Amino acid sequence: MRIARYVTAEGPRYGLIEGDSIAELAGFPALAPERTGQRRRLSEVRLLAPCEPSKVILLGQNYAAHALERGKTVPKEPRFFIKSATSVVGPGETIRVPYPEHRVDPEAELAVAIGREVRRASASEAVAAILGYTCGNDVSDRVFQEHDGHPTRGKSFDTFTPLGPWIVTDLDPSDLAIELRVNGELRQSSRTSQMLFSAPQIVAFVSGFLTLLPGDVILSGTPAGVAPMQPGDVAEVSIEGIGTLRNPVDRGARSVPCTVCSHHA
Ligand code: MG
Repeated sequence: MRIARYVTAEGPRYGLIEGDSIAELAGFPALAPERTGQRRRLSEVRLLAPCEPSKVILLGQNYAAHALERGKTVPKEPRFFIKSATSVVGPGETIRVPYPEHRVDPEAELAVAIGREVRRASASEAVAAILGYTCGNDVSDRVFQEHDGHPTRGKSFDTFTPLGPWIVTDLDPSDLAIELRVNGELRQSSRTSQMLFSAPQIVAFVSGFLTLLPGDVILSGTPAGVAPMQPGDVAEVSIEGIGTLRNPVDRGARSVPCTVCSHHA
C-alpha cells in the first residue's frame, strides 16, 4: 500500500494511492485502513507530509562512511536525538533557511513511519510497529549543530524535515538505493544495506527509552556525500521502491542575528 496525506476543501485527509487515484481513509491507518468511499484523482490533490508525528527521532552516524566524513566515531549502539515535530513539511514545500550564511546541508534518509504505540519492543514487536517507509530530508544547520554539540537547534527550524511523497507499507527496507540530488547533481548515492543498525533494530532500541506513537517518524541516518545547499536550490531525495521527495530552498525569517557568528566576529 501507498499511504498519502493531502489537502481537501474539508481539511487534510489520509488516503491510499491506487493507480492514478487516491481513496480517502477515515483517519491515520494505524492498524486497518478504513475507507470513506471518497475518491480523487492523484493529479488533482496537493500532497502533504504523509504522517503527523508527535516527535521526529533522528539517528546520528548510522552509515560508517558518513560518520568518518564528519570526523565522528562509528557507534556501537544507535545514537539518537529528537528534532521538533514542527519542522515537518511535505513534498514540494519550500525549505526556508533562516541563516543562509551558515553551512546548511540536506541529508537523504530512509524515514521509518510508526503505525502503533510501542515501548520496550522486542525484535518482532519492532517489526510489527513499523507502518512503512518514506523519503526524509534531515536538513541541518552545521553552525548551530557543532556549536551546541547536539542537533536540536540546528535541525528543528520550521521546514527542516521534508517527508514524503507517501508511505510505502509493503517494502523490504534492507537493501534499497538511496540518493540525494541538488539541482539535479548527484551528491549522495548509497544503499540502505550500508546502515549500521536496521530499521527494526532502531525501533527496538529507541522504544527501550521512550514511547513511540502512531505517526512518529525515525530518520535512520544519512550516507556519505553531504554538502551544502543555498537558497534557490532544489533538493531531491530518492529511495528505490518509494519515489522522489523534491523541495525548493529559499531564505527564511529570523528574529535575531546568529549569536554563534556574532560571538566569533
Ligand atoms: Mg541526519
